[in-house]
Amino acid sequence: MAEIVNALREALGVPSVLGAAEVAEMLAPVGRQFGAPVALVRPRSTAEVSAVLKIAHAAGQPVVPWGGRTGLVDGCRADGAVALSLERMNAIEEIKPENATMRVQAGCILQTACEAAEAGGLFLPLDLGARGSATIGGTISTNAGGNRVLRYGMMRAMVLGIEAVLADGTVIDAMSPLMKNNAGYDLKQLFIGSEGTLGIVTRAVLRLRPSPASSNVAFLGVPSFDCLPLLLRRLERGTGELLSAFEVMWSDFYRLVTTAPAKGRAPLRHGQPFYVLVESLGANPDADAARFEQVLGEALEAGEIVDAAIAKSTAERSAMWALRDDVGQVLRNGPIFAFDVSLKISDMEAYVADVRSLLHERWGSERLSLMVFGHLGDGNLHLIVGVGDSSAEARHEVETLVYRPLRTRGGSISAEHGIGLQKRDYLNWSRSPAEIALMRTLKHALDPGNILNPGKVVAEVA
Ligand code: ZN
Repeated sequence: MAEIVNALREALGVPSVLGAAEVAEMLAPVGRQFGAPVALVRPRSTAEVSAVLKIAHAAGQPVVPWGGRTGLVDGCRADGAVALSLERMNAIEEIKPENATMRVQAGCILQTACEAAEAGGLFLPLDLGARGSATIGGTISTNAGGNRVLRYGMMRAMVLGIEAVLADGTVIDAMSPLMKNNAGYDLKQLFIGSEGTLGIVTRAVLRLRPSPASSNVAFLGVPSFDCLPLLLRRLERGTGELLSAFEVMWSDFYRLVTTAPAKGRAPLRHGQPFYVLVESLGANPDADAARFEQVLGEALEAGEIVDAAIAKSTAERSAMWALRDDVGQVLRNGPIFAFDVSLKISDMEAYVADVRSLLHERWGSERLSLMVFGHLGDGNLHLIVGVGDSSAEARHEVETLVYRPLRTRGGSISAEHGIGLQKRDYLNWSRSPAEIALMRTLKHALDPGNILNPGKVVAEVA
């Protein structure tokens, strides 16, 4: 292992390559989930990334890309691998207001990129809880979703061009800023959402949107699940498609984030089975606010909501969003397993009921806690399950009970978090054998030596 470290130090210089002991020290005491890498390289340029991969490719040395390391599926676990961090490639190279594009390096923190867009009078709409540590490269590699997918799509929809380095060090410059480009295969898609298994994303051209001039946010109490899709479609229709978030909380989760020791205050009294945070973003402050209130009034009249609190200031808007972001409260009651599933809205109520009864049957009400919330507007639910046991056996049992009821409903075991290592063994519950075979064909074609984030997403076959 010392050989590879020496070769990397020779190519990049000693300060750019930390050895195993230095990385372990850097990660301690909380970094055990990232494994034990043999080295951490911090290249300063695409040419250096290419040099690293050439060396690794020749040596058959696994390389695991590290972004903000805020993923939830062990995608950056790097046992025995060289961890590759693009933290020093964090520049925003250019913002072009006339084209509404941003050219950025992969190590740039998402929030920094969002703030730079805003300073240029534009808007990068990707928004998620880890915004302060997730990187552009990481959000591209995982095709991150988050809170505004309903309106703006996932990260894939914001990427116009990409630069990526292949396993053998070849640099693919696909940095075209064009929105329409049907000249052959759309190669950037290979690297978006493939979790660093097909190439290392080093730079990107992102599509920016006009900065919204109005933001309207409300918290709504909903009396039954049946009302949720009616309310969603009413808001879409009624706001002229300005609806940008439709975040649902089952009552247990709402109670959790609005009672001490959580800092959040309840904007609505407890007692409804569902609560929804809705947001509309628009261009006409007065007209948008009036329209928003009118649609909510109509929903109230129709009985789709029974209670509503409309934020009247930036502080109130932030306080409402802080409730949705306070997911950390789920750790209050002991060890948990987190899930991120996708299914048709029309299947959700029965799915959650199935999962609840399966878990209840196995663990009983004293041990079981099940929190459900998520981006209902785009079919994505987050389930947080606690059974008072964090063992691998318990995890496996819980996973089986959460994923099995998805199969018959055509759901997905991962809406937005990806597969990594954690969900790999269940990939065939959401993908057909032919799809998985094609994934393997692509992996083999692009990374014949299996050095890029090996073992993640698709299991190796002997
Ligand atoms: Zn989410």
